[in-house]
Amino acid sequence: MKTIAIIGGGISGLATLHYLNERFAHTHKIVLYERQSSCGGNVHTLKEGDFLFEYGPNGFLDNQPETLQFIKELGVSVEVIEANAKAKKRYVQYKGRLVAFPLDPLSFSHFLPFTYIDSLRLLIEYFIPKGDNSNETIYNLVERRCGKAAAEYLFDPMITGIFAGDIKQLHAASAFPKLVEMENKYGSLLKAFIEQRKQGFQKPRMLSFKYGMETLIKVIVDRYKHQIHYQAIESINDIKADHIVMATPAYSASRLMYDRHPNLAKTLDEIHYAPIAVAGFGFAPDAFKRMPKGFGYLVPSNQHKDILGVLIESNVYAHRAPEGQWMVRVMMGGRHHPQVINDDHATIVSKALRELEKTYGLREHPTHQWVKVWPYAIPQYEMNFPRLRAKIQEELSHIPHLSLTGNYLQGISFNDSINHAKSIAYSIRL
Ligand SMILES: Cc1cc2nc3c(=O)[nH]c(=O)nc-3n(C[C@H](O)[C@H](O)[C@H](O)COP(=O)(O)OP(=O)(O)OC[C@H]3O[C@@H](n4cnc5c(N)ncnc54)[C@H](O)[C@@H]3O)c2cc1C
Repeated sequence: MKTIAIIGGGISGLATLHYLNERFAHTHKIVLYERQSSCGGNVHTLKEGDFLFEYGPNGFLDNQPETLQFIKELGVSVEVIEANAKAKKRYVQYKGRLVAFPLDPLSFSHFLPFTYIDSLRLLIEYFIPKGDNSNETIYNLVERRCGKAAAEYLFDPMITGIFAGDIKQLHAASAFPKLVEMENKYGSLLKAFIEQRKQGFQKPRMLSFKYGMETLIKVIVDRYKHQIHYQAIESINDIKADHIVMATPAYSASRLMYDRHPNLAKTLDEIHYAPIAVAGFGFAPDAFKRMPKGFGYLVPSNQHKDILGVLIESNVYAHRAPEGQWMVRVMMGGRHHPQVINDDHATIVSKALRELEKTYGLREHPTHQWVKVWPYAIPQYEMNFPRLRAKIQEELSHIPHLSLTGNYLQGISFNDSINHAKSIAYSIRL
């Protein structure tokens, strides 16, 4: 019987395990190695009393049918919950104030950071001819089409919320392919927006699980527990298998392959990661002087703060805090402020509380607090990324029986990780 080994038990490795079982359960031996004492990687939910703290992802969008099908196959669709309607309202911090993020082009004129000229500049986008977007940063693309204010106050915070990245370094076609597609197909982003609305396009819904994102991890681990080994792999030379799937982050894959595939290892090691520190707090019902509204807020990088954003988790999803109480996460660091990982937990907590005090006014201390620091949180698809990805593919094409999967290849989200894992599992030929 042939053996397939997966290294890494985050969502990428676990999804690969599921899809390989779908294909080969009765014909091949499939094993997964995870170096921690539990699986999940970035996905980790902590439950303390009725508070639920997500160390990593807190949800996923419903626009990827693969993820919904995957959840269905694992029998946990009933556990899926949708974000509350009131969480649709998002804010951007501007000079210390929270301003509502405009949800459609007509509300741009009321968006505080925009002058009259900025709003007009945005509307003129409709008439600007299509440019060459094949090798641009997100900032350049947006500034070229919509103006500086749109790049700095609309796209910068949005990208911060996804990548914790630097919009002036992220490669548009790799990090935000939809934006590039919109310009290519419609010639204008505004036109694309209008056309998509005419065609009945619905904004994707945000989903999570009633008991947190780790629900999905637990169900996969439970189903395939006899195939999972909790063991750190030091080198792929230690694995005896007919095919190996590396489902670790790029820098770990690099270390594991250095001896055997030094060129591939060097390329993998060049992929940048942005760090994130997450401070979570439970608060009593009357803890805030000013009621935290909606989803929370994001901080544009030109406000020069090491706070990326504040998420009012108990507004977004049910079951995140006991009735009437608050669960809040403050995200810090990112590509602009990597020094956050040098802060000790007490410093992270006090910075986060200072932010909450300034924004909402604190009457009381939090009743609960948690901190998680991710030194390598999110891979950054920066300007060197197309070259690195092409080099990785070229190197891999000479190495039979080795596959790579993970969020550093075809999209950084939870959905992307599942999608990529499926395509890898179905591409293996033995
Ligand atoms: C703070 C944060 C918030 C996020 N929020 C969202 C969100 O809201 N929505 C969203 O869609 N995405 C979000 N993401 C991204 C999402 O979490 C990731 O894309 C996804 O979880 C990546 O999974 P992965 O399996 O590729 O990698 P990982 O989760 O990093 O898993 C890799 C696994 O490999 C294991 N491993 C490493 N080396 C070895 C070795 N030598 N031997 C054995 N095992 C090894 C690790 O222990 C780990 O378990 C967030 C990420 C972070 C960090």
